[in-house]
Amino acid sequence: MPAPFKTEVIVLRSIRYGEADRILHLYSQDHGRLGAIAKGVRRVKSRLGGRLEPFARVNLILRQGRGDLCTVTGADTVHAHPALRERRASLERATQACDAVLRLLDSSDPNRPAYNLLAHELALLDADPDAAVRSQALAFRMKLLLAAGFAPELASCASCGEREHLGAFSAAAGGIVCPGCEAGSFPLGEEAHAFLVDALARPLAKYPSAGDRALGQADRAIGETLEHHAHVRLRRVA
Ligand SMILES: [Zn+2]
Repeated sequence: MPAPFKTEVIVLRSIRYGEADRILHLYSQDHGRLGAIAKGVRRVKSRLGGRLEPFARVNLILRQGRGDLCTVTGADTVHAHPALRERRASLERATQACDAVLRLLDSSDPNRPAYNLLAHELALLDADPDAAVRSQALAFRMKLLLAAGFAPELASCASCGEREHLGAFSAAAGGIVCPGCEAGSFPLGEEAHAFLVDALARPLAKYPSAGDRALGQADRAIGETLEHHAHVRLRRVA
């Protein structure tokens, strides 16, 4: 039997399985994406069950199984994020954040920046009810793009390097573009451009704000970048 191993994880999703088990989609600090089965956790007496809810940050002991799934043999809560579960808006943003990680990061290679980003996002949503807004969700998604290696070019034209008159965005070109390179692009105003730059530059809790129109453009820029370069289609952030 393979030796058990320990890693810290965030529970992205939990699915009922069989009589009393759960299948867990996990993002781990040391092994990237992991799938695990937690046996008997839906029984009333299970000591593990309450620690393996979605959004929980947990130290797990796992044993490699025969297939793709590990088996959970121990769990110790790092942060359960109980407050965010009590607020519908926070819960929806947390679901969005975990879903984005689930879709974008499917490798077993560790990605510490992405792990830390998701941990900070859930802690922020838990601590601050006001953080459950569109601008914060987009700032998180922009930082996730960076952590996953897909951040768009924002400083100069992604096609020719021009530094002036940058008013459009092209995912195919890889970022903002100048009027001479704008084939296949869509307009990205100054406010949206500044939002994307600030979202990357500032800490997660100091997320920038912007008007609806600019946020819509920023959302489109992030979404098209994900589709073009990561081949992942996420629902737009409303
Ligand atoms: Zn250009």
